[in-house]
Amino acid sequence: MSQTDGVPPATVFVDADNTLWDTDRVFAEAQLGLLSGVEAATGTPCPVSDRLGYVRAIDQAIAARHHSGLRYPAKLLIKATALALSGKGAVEAARASRLGTAPSHLPASSEEEIEALYWRALKAVPVLRPGVMAGLSALQDAGCAVLIVSEAARGKVETVIGATGLEGHFTRVIEGQKRPELYRRVLRLARLPKRAFMIGDQLDRDIAPAKAAGLATIYFPGGFRPEWTPDAAEVGPDFTITDFSEAARIIVASPDA
Ligand SMILES: [Mg+2]
Repeated sequence: MSQTDGVPPATVFVDADNTLWDTDRVFAEAQLGLLSGVEAATGTPCPVSDRLGYVRAIDQAIAARHHSGLRYPAKLLIKATALALSGKGAVEAARASRLGTAPSHLPASSEEEIEALYWRALKAVPVLRPGVMAGLSALQDAGCAVLIVSEAARGKVETVIGATGLEGHFTRVIEGQKRPELYRRVLRLARLPKRAFMIGDQLDRDIAPAKAAGLATIYFPGGFRPEWTPDAAEVGPDFTITDFSEAARIIVASPDA
């Protein structure tokens, strides 16, 4: 390990889903598969060419009103998609599915089959986002501590680390809610450099709380942004990047370079 002259090593917190790897694409593929399954079961084709936009509009309409948000049960999306294909608008289909106020357009066996395929598709190994391998190696070479902080179960994050070839790049994997206290507590308890950064794809969940804890923040926007999230201008990340290796350059760069 070599440290860049004149630049103190840093503690780098990194979000996992959609920052290190493209979880969103796995969801997109699963949702497109679900749409195909419902089309086949109902015999009704999707009426628009933007198939992902079609199923996502229904997904967002359910999530916006469901108490579990985006973690609502998959069966609701299957039922709502069948209702939408029968002619209802996304919001109306989502509402009828959520409240159970419309008769199902699918036999239970089809629903189960589509749901099983959907869960299987969600287990696919995600691809790494651009520059992740190079950026993590550069951070490691510079002597930085790199800690994953994710609300997903640690075992799940570790499985993806193994499947994507990222083992050995992280000091720790922390499972927890990304509140300002979490960053403060980790920096206080562990023997970590006090110069600290957070890299994440979500302004509200990654950037704002890290900023409140006094960390420098690096926003790495992904493809999908739920419609209820705030603007970058509102949250004000310190840096915005389009490739993960840019984050390493920002963190490792000599102050007078
Ligand atoms: Mg994320």
